[in-house]
Amino acid sequence: MSDSAVEVKEKLKELAGARATGPAFLTVTVSTSRLDDWRLVAPVFLRSEFNRVTKELNLSREDKRLLQADLDHVLDVLKYDVRPSTVGLAVFVDGAAGYEERIELPFRLMNRVVIEPFPHVRPVAHALSLLEPFVVARVSRDDSTLLLVDEWGVAQEDELVGPWLRSSDRETGEQSIKEYYAAARQDALVDLHFKEVGAGLAKLLEDSGARRAVLCAQHEIASGFRRVLPAAVAGMIVAQIPFDAAATTGQMVAAARLAIQEARHDEMVALADRIKEGLGRGGRGVSGFDDVLGALNRHQVLTLLVDRNYRVPGWRCLECNWVGLVAVDRCPACGGSTTPVADAVGELVRLAIVQNGQVEVGENIPALDELGGVAGVLRYG
Ligand SMILES: [Zn+2]
Repeated sequence: MSDSAVEVKEKLKELAGARATGPAFLTVTVSTSRLDDWRLVAPVFLRSEFNRVTKELNLSREDKRLLQADLDHVLDVLKYDVRPSTVGLAVFVDGAAGYEERIELPFRLMNRVVIEPFPHVRPVAHALSLLEPFVVARVSRDDSTLLLVDEWGVAQEDELVGPWLRSSDRETGEQSIKEYYAAARQDALVDLHFKEVGAGLAKLLEDSGARRAVLCAQHEIASGFRRVLPAAVAGMIVAQIPFDAAATTGQMVAAARLAIQEARHDEMVALADRIKEGLGRGGRGVSGFDDVLGALNRHQVLTLLVDRNYRVPGWRCLECNWVGLVAVDRCPACGGSTTPVADAVGELVRLAIVQNGQVEVGENIPALDELGGVAGVLRYG
């Protein structure tokens, strides 16, 4: 099976804490989308990137031989082992330790080769933010559906039918009571149905670990449904789309996915604003590369917000967690030796993951630009 958000999260945590026992970790990310000519292009690209990077590293012949074996392994995976449904593949190899991990994703990854003492986990951290499952609640007066959706598609579908469609209730509801009472009773039954769907929604959110839901309903029904929901569940409905009886489930899910993406972007904008307000002494906001690194070294970062496109080379210490954007021979924090890294911001992401911080990824957020492309919410205390 391809990787679910939960599996990716577990692998990511393990990788973020890993360090090469051999000369280095080989990290390869590659797009395996059917739209690309990847079977032809990817191996050529990987070989030439590998040669460029290993040349820059000035490796010993033995180290280069070990890494070449790691690359050959990745090329074999590409050749024989990629599922048709996979669109992006990340492979992490430390051949000297016999370690390999791969993550298959439903969207493209940038083609990239990284050879560093630590696995390059940032692309997977970004992917995880998009993989998060969500729930769609399609609600009507008597016939509703709850869908658990992840990036691969609909993972679970529960249909809930209102009580008066059940034969015994229908008999009493339709004929034997006067219209007025029938209407009153119908309202009560609708209410009962809403409560049943609400309970199902609460349970599905809890069981799946999904944090966001989309409500698909006519306006009037949506407000009636929201009224019966506990505040905690109502708060997780982050978007609403109109009910269209003619739409297929696929079309509805596509509309819901778009609504979730917009809601997520709005959340990231609000998060950046909140961090901005919390900057300064006594506040819970921190911004900019150096200050965020300082907060990470004090284990203070609860949530890290990073701009998807903020990627700069830098140096990191081989002995401690220091990372910097300018070249130094010796670590200013501990005096240890340093090594160049292709993505210094990725090192901040790694530290946050190791410390169980939440990593959020934003794009096109002016407030985040003002914050220097990387910012965080600090823990209490
Ligand atoms: Zn150091």
